[in-house]
Amino acid sequence: MDEFKIEDNISYKNLFKPYGYINGEWIDLPKGKSFDIYNPSTNKIIAKMPEMGIDETKYAIESANIAFDKWKKKTAKERCLLLRKWYNLVLENIDDLSVIMTLENGKPLKESKAEIIYASSFIDWFSEEGKRTYGRSIPATQIDKRIITIKQPVGVSALITPWNFPAAMITRKVAPALAAGCSVIIKPAEQTPLSASALIYLAQKAGIPKGVINLLVANNPIPIGKELCENDTVRKISFTGSTEVGKILIKDSANSVKKVSMELGGNAPLIVFNDADVDIAVKETLASKYRNSGQTCVCANRIFVQDGIYKKYSEALAKKVADFKVGDGFEHTSDIGPLIDNSGLKKVERHLDDAIAKGAKVLIGGKQPSLGGLYYEPTVLTEVAKNMVLFKEETFGPLAPLFRFKDVDEVINMANNTNYGLAGYIFTKDLNTAWKVSEELQFGMVGINSGILSTEVAPFGGVKESGIGREGAVEGMDEYMEIKYLCFGNIM
Ligand code: ADP
Repeated sequence: MDEFKIEDNISYKNLFKPYGYINGEWIDLPKGKSFDIYNPSTNKIIAKMPEMGIDETKYAIESANIAFDKWKKKTAKERCLLLRKWYNLVLENIDDLSVIMTLENGKPLKESKAEIIYASSFIDWFSEEGKRTYGRSIPATQIDKRIITIKQPVGVSALITPWNFPAAMITRKVAPALAAGCSVIIKPAEQTPLSASALIYLAQKAGIPKGVINLLVANNPIPIGKELCENDTVRKISFTGSTEVGKILIKDSANSVKKVSMELGGNAPLIVFNDADVDIAVKETLASKYRNSGQTCVCANRIFVQDGIYKKYSEALAKKVADFKVGDGFEHTSDIGPLIDNSGLKKVERHLDDAIAKGAKVLIGGKQPSLGGLYYEPTVLTEVAKNMVLFKEETFGPLAPLFRFKDVDEVINMANNTNYGLAGYIFTKDLNTAWKVSEELQFGMVGINSGILSTEVAPFGGVKESGIGREGAVEGMDEYMEIKYLCFGNIM
C-alpha cells in the first residue's frame, strides 16, 4: 500500500507556524487562551494556536497603517518583484504546503497540490497586473480644462477567509491588495489557520516588509470581526464565507462606510438539456459536484435534467460515482476526503433524510461508509422535488440531487428561484440554448459545457445574496483601488 506517511515527510514542519503574525513578528500568547486545530480525517489535534482578540486586532491595524504609508510609496515594480519572489517560494514549497493543507482540511493530497498551484496563480497574475493600474485621460467639455483619473490603493484592508480553500482564498485577496499598494490583516478560518501562516512565512522570506501582511487567529472570530469592521483606519473588508456572516460584516462596516467585497454562499443550478453530450456532462458534473467533498460555493447544488436524457445521464453519473474512493487524504487512492466537521456532516444527513421522506430515491451512496468519522459516501438522488430542503439550502457535501424538467422556460424559472446567484452550469450542443439560458440565468458566472470555471484571469463573484464585487482579473485589482479624478483648470 502506497500510503503517505507524515512522519516520513517532516520537512513540512519548517512551514508549520502555529502563531499569529503582527508587525513582522510571530506572536504566541503563552499566558493567554489557545485553541486546537484538528485533522478531520483522524479527529486528532495537530496544533494549538493563540486565541487572539481585540488587543491584537488593534495592534495589527496600527501596524498595517504604519506599513501602508511606506508600501504605497514603493513603485509598482518594486511591489510586484516582491510578489514574484513570494510566488516562486510558494511553488518551491508546494509539497510541504500541500501536506499542511491536507492535515488541517482533510482534502486528498492531490487536491491540496492543485489548490496550491491555483493559489499561486493569483500571486503570479497580480504580480504582473500590479504594473498596469492605469488611469484615463478624458476629453474635457471646456477648452481650458484637462481631466484625468488616477488609481490609488484604498488603504488598510481586512481579509476574512473560509476553510474550504485554505490557501487560494487568501492569495486571491492578498495578491491584488499588495499589488495595489494596500497593507492587509488576514483572519483565516478557525479550522485552517496553518495554511495561512505557512504562506505568510514564505511572504516574510520573500522580503515583504513588516506590517504589510498581518495574521490574526482565533476560534471566536466575533471580537476580531467587529473591530475590523468598526475601526475607521480599516478602509476595506473583503470576505469569503456564508451569506449570514457577510450580512453581519456589511452592517458592522456601515458606520465607517468601508469599501466591501463579499463572496458569499451559492445554490448553483447545473442544467443538462436533452441534446447534451452525456459523457461531457457527467465528467463535468463530477468535477463540479464532488471536488473538495462537495464543499465549494460553486459546487452544483441542484442538478436539473431534461426528461429525455434523465435516465441515461443519471445511470452514467452513478456508474462513475461508484468508482470514487473515500478515505484519508494522505492515502494516494483517495478521491473524496472527510467533511470538515460534525455540523457539515449533520447538514448532509438532514438534507438526505428530508429528501427521502418527501419521495427522493437513492441511486448510489446515501450513508456514511464503514470508515465512519466525518466521511460520507458520494451520493446521487433521483426524483428530487422543489419542496425539499436541498432546493433552498446549499448542501456543502457530496450529495447530487437530480431534478426533472420539461422545457427551457420551466428550468430557467426553477434555476432562478433562489436568493443566491453565484455560479450556474449548462450542458447543451445548441448555441441558441446556450446563449439564451446564459443571459437569463441570474448568476454571476455561467459554465457552458464546463463544470469548472475558477481561474485567476476571469472575474469570480456573484449577484443577489451571493455577493458584491469580483475576485481575480482586472476587476479583482479594482476592488483594492480608489479612482481619483483630477481636474486641471485655466490652461491657456
Ligand atoms: P462557514 O459556514 O463556511 O464556516 P463562515 O461564514 O461561518 O463560513 O466563516 C467564514 C469566515 O468568517 C471564517 O474565517 C470565520 O471565522 C469568519 N467569521 C464567522 N463569523 C464571523 C463574525 N461574526 N465576524 C467575523 N468573522 C466571522
